[in-house]
Amino acid sequence: MRWVLPRKDLESWLVFLNRDENLIVPDGSQGFLKYQGKVFLEGKPRLSIKEFFLPWREPLLSFEAIPGVIPTPCLPTGKKIIFGVLPCDAKAITLIARVYEKDLHFQERLRNTVLIGVIRKKEESCFCTAMGVDPFKGEGLDILVLPKDDILLIEPLTPRGKELLPEGAREASTEEENLYNEAMESFRKTAFVSPLWEKLKKTELLPLYEAPFWEELSFPCLNCGVCTYLCPTCYCFDVQDEVVGAKGIRVRLPDSCMFLLYSQHASGHNPRKTPLARFRNRFMHKFKYYLDEYGEPLCVGCGRCNDACPAGINLWDILKAMGEV
Ligand code: SF4
Ligand code: SF4
Repeated sequence: MRWVLPRKDLESWLVFLNRDENLIVPDGSQGFLKYQGKVFLEGKPRLSIKEFFLPWREPLLSFEAIPGVIPTPCLPTGKKIIFGVLPCDAKAITLIARVYEKDLHFQERLRNTVLIGVIRKKEESCFCTAMGVDPFKGEGLDILVLPKDDILLIEPLTPRGKELLPEGAREASTEEENLYNEAMESFRKTAFVSPLWEKLKKTELLPLYEAPFWEELSFPCLNCGVCTYLCPTCYCFDVQDEVVGAKGIRVRLPDSCMFLLYSQHASGHNPRKTPLARFRNRFMHKFKYYLDEYGEPLCVGCGRCNDACPAGINLWDILKAMGEV
């Protein structure tokens, strides 16, 4: 069953959601921040919600350099509600969750974060449907909202989502349900889908790995790592100890497979010494290794990498080449 809220009552819903002062919203085109009275629902924020699950600096444990003193784990605390999530970004969190299945910190954050998605107008650089993402399925979301004229059509997707329905919401009438279904059908009818995945699943690994196109396509790449930091599905990390005197904290920080030191072993050996090897790894991981393991690509088609790459590298050029092997 779907619910209806007049658009003019959105603010009172946000105030209700923020009653514990833990509401996060897209507050401009750059990214998501604590709710301060405004919300940006028109376009795609530059940053996704990944940082609320894999923070820029995550304390893992604290320790003292004293024999016999056992380190203390630092588990994340507190609950969060994130409103205005892009459905593709929520799907990205479900893809990462498979890999972080046994990670206490990630799973704790997942348990304590409610995601409320809002369907937006597709931007030119978006291609979620080609990656198998259907925004109307609301994967990873607790509530999905479709703004339509002067109303918000609201679909609770989980029991905890149901508890957060706005007080003033009423059940959708048959006409309003039809409005939702028509919007969904028309989106699905015109969606761009790609048979590439079935082909890549069957493609042999070695010829793809050794294909000559990597040399030409990787040439402009600066190995700057911007694409990996902005990507909602990239999840690589580094662990460092921050020590002052005899006390320290072990922290997890985002890392990028595009960097030379990322794959350097303690022995000094580096299996991905060349820019080509690092470039190839990024795409092979997303579109072959992860696909073979989990049956879906590690990409939700948000287009952020294409938007931000300073070298003008477009993911579709690489995909087309991979699909032709
Ligand atoms: S943003 Fe572009 S130049 Fe930078 S690492 Fe990614 S592909 Fe290479
Ligand atoms: S690879 Fe690019 S398009 Fe795909 S999810 Fe990452 S940033 Fe978005």
